[in-house]
Amino acid sequence: MALFLRELRCLKCGRVFKPGKNLYVCRACGGKIEASYNYEEMELRKGDLEKRTPGVWKYKELLPAEKRVTLGEGGTPLLKANELGKELGLKNLYLKDETRNPTGSFKDRMMTVGVSKAVEFGAKAVVTASSGNAAISLAAYAANAGLFCYAFVPATAPESKIAQLSIHGAKVVKVAGKKKGDPTYEMMVEGWKKFGWQPIPSAGAFNPYHWEGIKTLSHEICESLGWDVPDWIFVPTGAGTLLSGTAKGFFEFQRFGFINGVPRIACVQAAGCAPLVNAFKKNIPPEKIETWPSPKTIAGGLIDPFPWDADTALPALNKTDGIAVAVSDREILEAEKLLARREGIFAEPSGAAGIAGLKKLLEDGSVDKSDVVVVEVTGGGLKDIKAAMKISEPPLTFRGKDLEKILAA
Ligand SMILES: *Cc1c(COP(=O)(O)O)cnc(C)c1O
Ligand SMILES: [Zn+2]
Repeated sequence: MALFLRELRCLKCGRVFKPGKNLYVCRACGGKIEASYNYEEMELRKGDLEKRTPGVWKYKELLPAEKRVTLGEGGTPLLKANELGKELGLKNLYLKDETRNPTGSFKDRMMTVGVSKAVEFGAKAVVTASSGNAAISLAAYAANAGLFCYAFVPATAPESKIAQLSIHGAKVVKVAGKKKGDPTYEMMVEGWKKFGWQPIPSAGAFNPYHWEGIKTLSHEICESLGWDVPDWIFVPTGAGTLLSGTAKGFFEFQRFGFINGVPRIACVQAAGCAPLVNAFKKNIPPEKIETWPSPKTIAGGLIDPFPWDADTALPALNKTDGIAVAVSDREILEAEKLLARREGIFAEPSGAAGIAGLKKLLEDGSVDKSDVVVVEVTGGGLKDIKAAMKISEPPLTFRGKDLEKILAA
């Protein structure tokens, strides 16, 4: 299949490029370049889409690479959450369960596309900067494709995530933080410039291809709802990549006339690292956003002190009449527990943060109890057992046959 990828346009200076090897940022100004497509030439029909096998590559016309490297990502269920809905007072609550992706997070939607493109370019090695899950996913897809993988992670990355990374053979390097900028990204760019390692980071800056895979999450939601859209979509947010991709997916399907309108987007960040919430509330333009000082939260997947994709995330929030909210670690852990106990879904703190945000916006009246709400549950709980141990109860210990005591305990 020929690709429908048309061009890459710089979001900073507006220059347009033909896609090609080693072109990952604007050649003129170093800005982020975004993929656009020959939508007019695609012959996409709802009925045809419905017949295809579920998964990211089902929407191949809308992706900038051909399927080469896959682990069976995407095609995750949209679960009706009746019990949790009851608890929160919502009739129509749905969970997009991204914990079921091959490496346990939605990042697999990005990496199947990113690594496929790198292979297409003849890459031998890939490199990433990530707070954990994106690197894990890249390491897995790189392993599958037989590519070398280098991963620069923040010094705060939990041990369990580093283990998940190195098990796939990635070379892991911890990098200490600093006041301005993000040293993991600086190292990644060094590796790319010096050694030609293909940059496939967590964010959409520095690679226009991989984050296109996120759109399929929204495409799937539309299909699962019978070509309808929810009133709200809740997105746990770090750098704003997931939010930007989520929005792009809905806008694409709107353009095809598959849906009427798009959902309002709720951006949920951890209070200990909330540069996008801050920028949205104070109307700070993307280029004026400063690095968040000393980020600290239990939600490791949301630690992005510099929101690399603010330039696509903030416009998406504005265009969808969105909202932004910060939640505390206590609220996040409470949400993790609620999800596990009411719905049987085990999420890591970052993965449960959307529920915490929803609870807050229901309480302050921003979300109505009659609204149809989808929450993205972005990462699985087995990734961060330490966090789960903080909210799990110690087991009972009994001697002998005193079963009755269990009832009393
Ligand atoms: C990466 C990640 C996010 C946030 O994604 P951004 O694209 O950085 O905003 C949310 N949840 C989990 C589990 C993640 O791994
Ligand atoms: Zn430019």
